[in-house]
Amino acid sequence: MSCVVADLLSRSRNSLWHVIRSLDSDYFPEGADTVRARAKTVELSRCLPFVALHAACLAAFWVKPSAFTLAVAFALYWVRMFAITGFYHRYFSHRTFSTSRTMQFIFALWGATAGQRGPLWWAAHHRLHHRESDKENDVHSPVQRGFLWSHIGWITSSANIPTDYKAIPDLTRYPELVLVNRLDWVPPFLLALTLLALGEALRVAAPQLGTSGPQLLVWGFFVSTVVLFHGTCCINSVGHIFGSQRFRTNDASKNNFALALITLGEGWHNNHHRFQGAARQGIYWWEIDVTYYLLSGMEKLGLVSDLHKHPADLKLLLDKQHRQSPTKEDLRKEIPQETKL
Ligand SMILES: [Zn+2]
Ligand SMILES: [Zn+2]
Repeated sequence: MSCVVADLLSRSRNSLWHVIRSLDSDYFPEGADTVRARAKTVELSRCLPFVALHAACLAAFWVKPSAFTLAVAFALYWVRMFAITGFYHRYFSHRTFSTSRTMQFIFALWGATAGQRGPLWWAAHHRLHHRESDKENDVHSPVQRGFLWSHIGWITSSANIPTDYKAIPDLTRYPELVLVNRLDWVPPFLLALTLLALGEALRVAAPQLGTSGPQLLVWGFFVSTVVLFHGTCCINSVGHIFGSQRFRTNDASKNNFALALITLGEGWHNNHHRFQGAARQGIYWWEIDVTYYLLSGMEKLGLVSDLHKHPADLKLLLDKQHRQSPTKEDLRKEIPQETKL
């Protein structure tokens, strides 16, 4: 009898420990390398969180938004899009500017509220995308595996769940960034809770706004996060299918004006594949690149510094005869060595 009780206690302790460890995004009982070696396929069980996130948006049919709620939802889309484009992409993935360790930590937390995993996971996969652009090992190439795979399918494959820490040695030096990466679900969870609490507080304190906790949760968090998610995913899918190619970059990256508008400048994706080390992705004045304008403003405020520019011979490179692929030497000049692209 005592053996049975001891066995039950041991099992429940193990299950509890498993649940606690599962809160850590780096927890893989079978080992991260084993998981990474699995077949790269869409996994239905891993589609469930996305289905749930989209299903939560259906509540919008019953929860009518006030003007205040809509303003919050719009603001959270743009503010978090900037965190993804300016920080996750142009800072953590490409190191196209410098900043302090404190600001770097704030950027990591800010970006993580978008619910697109941690900054190190994001940067490691993005660096792989640039190393293998539209080749067999590209993690999300529409050329290799079609639109749906590049847009969302690749994220549902457990092979792409672990963070490849070897790809980001310049970032793993900072334990606080590793912590944000391991607990990547905490910032979006806290944002959702904050919105719910704020909405309820405003319902009592400022009834003239006509807002409530459920409104801010459904519109400010779920709808805004899902639209933001698809906006970002469009860079991987639409950005490698629809648009024009200014530079022959040996991949399918495209420049796309509409995409640049909804992603604060990331639609100049062919320019970016050519000049990966530049903080600016638009080249001509009409190539609107709001992320760059905001980063320039932050530079003036002293929050960031050393925004990397296009090469000095850009005019020459823009000449039709010179729109060739970047050589390894070009990339070495443009990209800081520590990013190991
Ligand atoms: Zn990039
Ligand atoms: Zn790309």
